[in-house]
Amino acid sequence: MTADTHNEQPVYLDYNATAPVRPEALQATYDALSSVGNASSAHYHGGDAAGRVDRARRQAASLLNCSPGELIFTSGATEANNLALQAGYAGRGGIVTSRVEHPAVLEAARALAANTPESLMILPVDGQGQVPQDAFRAAVEQSGAVLVSIMLANNETGVIADLGPITDAAHAAGALVHTDATQYVGRLPLDLDALDVDLLSLSAHKFGGPQGVGALYIRRGTPLPQRPLVFGGGQERGWRAGTLNVPGIAGLGAAAEAVHRDLTDEVPRISKLRDLLEGEILTRIPGSYVNGAGSPRLPGVTSVTFPSAPADALLASMPDVAASDGSACAAGAPTPSHVLLAMGLSREAADSTIRFSLGYATTEHEIRRVIDATVRAVTHVQTVLGTTTRP
Ligand code: PMP
Repeated sequence: MTADTHNEQPVYLDYNATAPVRPEALQATYDALSSVGNASSAHYHGGDAAGRVDRARRQAASLLNCSPGELIFTSGATEANNLALQAGYAGRGGIVTSRVEHPAVLEAARALAANTPESLMILPVDGQGQVPQDAFRAAVEQSGAVLVSIMLANNETGVIADLGPITDAAHAAGALVHTDATQYVGRLPLDLDALDVDLLSLSAHKFGGPQGVGALYIRRGTPLPQRPLVFGGGQERGWRAGTLNVPGIAGLGAAAEAVHRDLTDEVPRISKLRDLLEGEILTRIPGSYVNGAGSPRLPGVTSVTFPSAPADALLASMPDVAASDGSACAAGAPTPSHVLLAMGLSREAADSTIRFSLGYATTEHEIRRVIDATVRAVTHVQTVLGTTTRP
């Protein structure tokens, strides 16, 4: 298929893979990189670096409504998830999680339970991507769970979990609750005073900070055996050794502050653009449908399944659109999305699904280009494959 005639850049609709760096984060990262100092050193330059880290911790804590001392900086959400599971589980009992979790939870849980597979329960979800509450309650009560890990928002569908009843049931059974909030933080307001989780993971690059930096929130007073993944100089109060990534952390903090300031405007603007994209696609492409549409979802995500049009062929036919077939984290893997299969899609339907994810810099003009490109690509692929669906 031909590229746009306007010589415009392809439209970036892959914010769930990574978001463009916000100008504030770029500046803070640059400033930190431009000045010397190890945050552990006692002299002037160390103090300067430590000051940038302190500031970032306060900025991130303010976005989450927690206290700065409850945050441990990590290399990203993958590490935060691994750390949460390792510390929360600590070989003490069972872990309950779900089939739609990110591999950074599922594979970490599988590795921890490698010698005691019976201690790991991976719960199915319903057609809307939700863990059924009664199955969840039964699982935590019967399994002797010490740790529950259920993601707040799914990276492929944007489906938001109903965490209130889950945390209540888990706490009643004596288990700690971890949530992977990587896709939620910076996309919708989050208040850790109201969300009763013990552990929460986030990643800067999903909300306009740099890649390779994230954080684990550990609620004050959580009875957690200290089990770091990385041993060494005892940084981050012994939770995560290694010289702090001051530029990355400064960027995370600046992105958190910018998002905190702008979120009230961004949420309705992004939701409106997503609804425009979704509405036009559903109207103009007969037989297409949105996964998880019956659940609350993040404002900037839509996972659309197209009738008899494989996603790889579609994306190849629309080079002006940067979107994703399945999740970028599993890109290259020949298996269909485990999330969509868990929600009941056939392998063929899962393979015919595109995730469009929008964000703070997406414009209406871009969305209109994507709508046209998608309609053209579906028609083209269905014609080539002889599968055109007539309205
Ligand atoms: N959890 C979820 C839900 C994600 O979407 C991602 C990123 N794809 C991760 C964890 C891993 O985050 P990071 O890139 O910071 O390691």
